Amino acid sequence: MKIICIGRNYAEHAKEMKSDVPTEPVFFFKPDTSLLKEEDFYYPDFTKDLHHEIELVLKISKVGKNIEEQFAHKYYDEIGLGIDFTARDLQAKCKEKSLPWEKAKAFDNAAPVGKFVKKESLDLGNIQFELKVNGVSKQIGHSKDLIFSFDKVIAYVSQFVTLKTGDLIYTGTPEGVGAVKIGDKLEGFVNGESFLKLNIK
Ligand code: MG
Repeated sequence: MKIICIGRNYAEHAKEMKSDVPTEPVFFFKPDTSLLKEEDFYYPDFTKDLHHEIELVLKISKVGKNIEEQFAHKYYDEIGLGIDFTARDLQAKCKEKSLPWEKAKAFDNAAPVGKFVKKESLDLGNIQFELKVNGVSKQIGHSKDLIFSFDKVIAYVSQFVTLKTGDLIYTGTPEGVGAVKIGDKLEGFVNGESFLKLNIK
């Protein structure tokens, strides 16, 4: 399986990163070795500025290529919550030199995910999600603020990349990204319900 991540999909996050709001989706990959389904995350020693990015995650349920936007909803059946961990210091250096970001984004365990629910159980255009760190709210997002909807993202990415059953799409983070440190306890919520817990060790 592969993990596809959408960058800058919320205008306020693009702004806080001092990036332009994109006119077409920006995507990158994390390998399957990034996936973390456990509750313990070990802070890597190659970064001093590891940032949380809480994101809604789509689970692809059917193989598809060149998917039309109007049919995109048939290609994912579950939604969950994940963290797109980013070594911001390494990313800044890559950006400076116009190099790819993988070192900062695709390392082992950089993609924790929590539970998934059937998409029918949610009003897709009106999902609220939140990340708390040590009980304090750090990021709140709403799917209605997505620049590129779930269906647009699937249509766009599948022009270039065949989507396969079990692939995950991280759909972008809202504003409020920030550093985590050893000892932090992260908890992610969808519409107020706990979906993801992570201890930084
Ligand atoms: Mg992200």
